[in-house]
Amino acid sequence: MTTIPLVRPPYEDWYCPNCGVSERTKALPANTSRFHTCPGLHMLTAPLIRANVYAKVEAEERADYLGREVQATGDDGKPYMAVRTTRDDGDDLLVNAPTARGRLG
Ligand SMILES: [Zn+2]
Repeated sequence: MTTIPLVRPPYEDWYCPNCGVSERTKALPANTSRFHTCPGLHMLTAPLIRANVYAKVEAEERADYLGREVQATGDDGKPYMAVRTTRDDGDDLLVNAPTARGRLG
């Protein structure tokens, strides 16, 4: 009979499928996310993926008219409204909320 260790390793490895960056952190809770500015994804803020998870991280270009709103743009100058992470068990959307221009005073 084999015993399954109940103690997780004291560290976790993370990677980015787009730029190849990797990082080792102490073990973090399951719902924790790590982010980085991704040179493989137009310099947008993108999540790091746990090393044992296969996922696809893509930028979603904003389709509607930008108007006077300020939208995060990638280094290619295109407005991206979100970064989508697609995993086997679902997907996450990191939304770049547009900022309305305003003046104080
Ligand atoms: Zn990256």
